[in-house]
Amino acid sequence: MTNADLLAGGARLPLVEDFYTIQGEGFHTGKPAYFIRLGGCDVGCAWCDAKNTWNPRLYPPTEVSTIVGRAVACAAQSIVITGGEPLLYPLDLLTGELHRHGLKIFLETSGSHPFSGEFDWVCLSPKRKQPPLDEAFAHADELKVIIGDVGDFEWAEQNAERVGSKCLLYLQPEWSVSDEIMPQIVGYAKSHPRWSISIQSHKYMRIP
Ligand code: SF4
Repeated sequence: MTNADLLAGGARLPLVEDFYTIQGEGFHTGKPAYFIRLGGCDVGCAWCDAKNTWNPRLYPPTEVSTIVGRAVACAAQSIVITGGEPLLYPLDLLTGELHRHGLKIFLETSGSHPFSGEFDWVCLSPKRKQPPLDEAFAHADELKVIIGDVGDFEWAEQNAERVGSKCLLYLQPEWSVSDEIMPQIVGYAKSHPRWSISIQSHKYMRIP
């Protein structure tokens, strides 16, 4: 049986972990949210802090009904679907079930695979190694560009040119060089004030 058969068109998904925490990054920073982390990513960012998610075969195909049941059993009102790269999978069933329970759904994606599912908020985080598909930019409510060196500011601007006029723009330091690059990000945001700064506040709060 192939991996696609195992996942039954999105009725099952390779679940790495799911947990209730506080959103640490971007526009929804500080809000309680239930995270659903799916396995599988073919983008290959050198600095990825979730390399354990890359191989989806390591994670059990889990029934959407099981995932949703756990999410609705806690007090969360918002769900973050993340990975890995969650758009590797058809997400219509998952998001349909979560919406049926009145939950808000936020997506974290590199935009490198076709869109599926219905979301209340899409955070597009483009990656140089596998840039977003053209269709991804129109979905973005928030563009979050990871800055590891000064060359990434130009990459950020290239992506900002492609999102809608209402899309929020964030620069976020790559964690391993955060101390070194932060002064340059601060300077860039001050001289290009359509950008805001996002930090990985959950790492300072010492929560997942
Ligand atoms: S897209 Fe995300 S999960 Fe995939 S390699 Fe890059 S940082 Fe890691």
